[in-house]
Amino acid sequence: MTSSKVTRFEVRGARYHEIEMKQAARVLNGVEIAAEIKAEVAAEVRSLAQAGIQPGLAVVLVGHVAASEIYVRSKVKASGELGIRSEMLTPPETVTTEEMLALIAELNARDEVDGILIQLPLPAHVDTPRLLEAVAPEKDVDGFHPVNVGRLQSGHPALAPCTPAGIMEILRRSNLPVAGQHAVVLGRSQIVGKPVAMLLLNASATVTVCHSKTVDIGRYTRDADILVAAIGKPGFVTEEMVKAGATMIDVGINRITDAAEVARFFPGDLERAAQFEKRGSTLVGDIDPAAFALAGAYTPVPGGVGALTIAMLMHNTVQAAKARRGLAVVKT
Ligand code: NAP
Repeated sequence: MTSSKVTRFEVRGARYHEIEMKQAARVLNGVEIAAEIKAEVAAEVRSLAQAGIQPGLAVVLVGHVAASEIYVRSKVKASGELGIRSEMLTPPETVTTEEMLALIAELNARDEVDGILIQLPLPAHVDTPRLLEAVAPEKDVDGFHPVNVGRLQSGHPALAPCTPAGIMEILRRSNLPVAGQHAVVLGRSQIVGKPVAMLLLNASATVTVCHSKTVDIGRYTRDADILVAAIGKPGFVTEEMVKAGATMIDVGINRITDAAEVARFFPGDLERAAQFEKRGSTLVGDIDPAAFALAGAYTPVPGGVGALTIAMLMHNTVQAAKARRGLAVVKT
């Protein structure tokens, strides 16, 4: 994305115009970075195979939530492609907390299972926090267990949640500075906001976390060298809210179905218009695409952060397989 500013002026009757070209914002291609990570994971899996080890992932999918079914299918498919053994357990919607606890205990006990992933959300009648705590911390490839959350907070090696870990990989592999930078995180969820804030802090950024009760968010975002937006509000961060040259990491995945909104976010974007025409919806992040023009670097939606999550799940599964056998320390 390029942008330019034209200033017209006159000197002794002669007209001039000065065109100030801004450096094109660098697109951080999540799909390419994810492919790089997956290739590394596949190589690790091959080398473990020589020692007779095949990492194994168990995915628990309760009931029939359409989005969850799609995610789980992608996770199982990625496992197969990389040589990770995977299995899917599908208790019915009516499953009780006790039955789920028994299932998790069985997976904890099985040696060939290195990673356990409980696809969220679970039905409302099930005690989700209790189930997440029941997963053996060394098999907790989602990084949600309080032991892993605590290790992350203490700066000790831990299995880190996949999306935040993916964000750190994007920054690291793109050689973007983190230490000493002011990182502003929008959102404080357990899945994205809090863990990414902790990872950024551990990487020596100065971190500000904003949430729904923060007064005047723009006051913080305008000072951000690294802006991580994870609130689930389409195009919430506007041009006026960002600092020129900032690294903008857009975690938001918002499906918009209103033609006027599509035209507002993607003016003149024929590809988006055609996609919208065909599917009746398109995706936009939490950052207004117009703000990306001011970025030094940014992750697009789709094709940015979203692409990393499964790659990091595969990475975590292999790390768990190695750590459980005393072959490596899980690093974050
Ligand atoms: P979440 O659990 O709903 O949390 C949203 C957070 O945003 C909360 O901390 C909330 O503040 C804050 N928030 C909501 N409205 C706000 C506002 N107007 N101003 C400031 N803060 C506001 O969401 P999440 O799971 O973290 O996900 C956030 C977004 O990331 C979603 O679009 C989701 O689809 C996307 N996501 C993407 C991936 C991926 O790429 N793989 C993974 C996970 C999530 P309070 O705490 O005060 O309520």
